[in-house]
Amino acid sequence: MSKKNFTNIVILTGAGISAESGIKTFRDQNGLWENHDILDVATPQGFERDPELVHRFYNLRRAQLLSDEVKPNQAHFALARLEKEFNGQVVIVTQNVDNLHEKAGSKNVLHMHGELLKMRCSKSKQSFSISKDITSARACPCCLEEGNLRPHIVWFGERPFHMNEIQQALSTCDLFLSIGTSGQVYPAAMFVDLAKESLAHTVEFNTNSTDVSDKFDEHRLGKAGVEVEKFVDELLS
Ligand code: NAD
Repeated sequence: MSKKNFTNIVILTGAGISAESGIKTFRDQNGLWENHDILDVATPQGFERDPELVHRFYNLRRAQLLSDEVKPNQAHFALARLEKEFNGQVVIVTQNVDNLHEKAGSKNVLHMHGELLKMRCSKSKQSFSISKDITSARACPCCLEEGNLRPHIVWFGERPFHMNEIQQALSTCDLFLSIGTSGQVYPAAMFVDLAKESLAHTVEFNTNSTDVSDKFDEHRLGKAGVEVEKFVDELLS
């Protein structure tokens, strides 16, 4: 890796970067997310079928995120340091719905799959910060009606947020890092292809090989907390 020439870095993060912070990944239990089938808790159809179950699921994820147990780890802090000290642009595109990048100090973060600490009005599409539980009985702050609030999360079958900005960043990046993501969720899984079209150097960080590993130029096998910090030290040295 020639570190001197990079000017635009795009970093894609997934559930694996938050695993060492105590948040469970998506696929480490036979495709179940915290013991739930994703069709029940991560699709518009699941929400239509049983809104209370879906609210309960995200309320619990939010409460866990806001508890003292969950803190950013070395990988989040290393990326925040990179953004601060790198002489160029650093964009984090995260599939994570937690706020651990921001807690570690990163500023330039695009949450393509939404955020646990926001809710949205299904009617007006307006989003709001939230720390308390959502229920079907909670009145919406904009239309004042009950039943219109939903988690500000992109479910399967819905269009991810910030796609124009992400495509723009990928079209000019010269270094692309993919950290703790299984490469099974699209369109994030094809960002490595877009980065390669821009002739970027591509590096995958994971504890295992993934479905898209062979697309990357370089692999850092191991825990994100160790490998990302090492890589950032190399890049900034
Ligand atoms: P995934 O669960 O499908 O894959 C996680 C990947 O991280 C795996 O390839 C695994 O080998 C790797 N990994 C696990 N621990 C690691 C570690 N310590 N260091 C490095 N790599 C590690 O996750 P995904 O690809 O992000 O897709 C899951 C979807 O579920 C996302 O879209 C996200 O919105 C959602 N999700 C989010 C969170 C969160 O916000 N923290 C948690 C679970 C699921």
